[in-house]
Amino acid sequence: MKKDLLYSGKAKSVYRTDDPRELLVEFRDSLTAFDGKKKSSVEKKGFYNAQISAELFRLLEKNGVKTHFIGMASGNEMIVRAVDIIKIELIVRNIAAGSIAKKYPFKEGQPLRPPIVIMDYKSDEYGDPMINEDIALALGLASRAEMDKIRETALKVNDILVGHLGEHGLLLPDFKLEFGRSGGEILLADEISCDTCRFWDKATRKSLDKDVFRFDKGDLVAAYREVARRVVPEIFRG
Ligand code: UDP
Repeated sequence: MKKDLLYSGKAKSVYRTDDPRELLVEFRDSLTAFDGKKKSSVEKKGFYNAQISAELFRLLEKNGVKTHFIGMASGNEMIVRAVDIIKIELIVRNIAAGSIAKKYPFKEGQPLRPPIVIMDYKSDEYGDPMINEDIALALGLASRAEMDKIRETALKVNDILVGHLGEHGLLLPDFKLEFGRSGGEILLADEISCDTCRFWDKATRKSLDKDVFRFDKGDLVAAYREVARRVVPEIFRG
């Protein structure tokens, strides 16, 4: 079923399958930060991220969000619909953290209501610069109608995730989404994991995400395992 390697990124590898409409995404244990300048590998990180992502895609599907998720091929391998990725990263921010509290007069930890949606141009070459709709249109990244749709979907995803994670004692300061086109539809793609979201413990406001790695805040795998424990407790049973 798993065939040749199509693409290998910083933390995931994508393989062809027997069916040209489906791909296999392997979540690896490697991780990078600061445009690839900081690198590491942490055992089981790929497994936890794959399981968290799968569960959150299932939750979103149940709530009417169309995603690329089909199922799991193994603990850290996801089967997804093949899409053409739109080169816009949607970042939704509920609480000021990271760069936004450095670039603008927001205080770290300050609630952002209504949530702030930011678009970045997905480009390693240009370092993912922030863009707006006019730049995206001029670059031919997406149509206005597509941008309306992905913004609206990102806010819907945010409402669903904030509610669900809140029930499990987690805050969602911010996260990044990617979308793709497939058969005339726009699907939520990529991943929703500790690598692409900030998760804070509600009680202690401790980071349970990639910031542990970015800023040497402690045991990365313990943080990812803690999120998995709350989001996908089934994987720890038996
Ligand atoms: N993010 C991501 N990939 C990126 C850029 C951002 O997953 O290429 C996520 C990141 O983990 C964080 C959120 O999006 O949860 C906001 O990140 P951004 O880079 O905008 O800001 P910073 O980390 O500098 O605050």
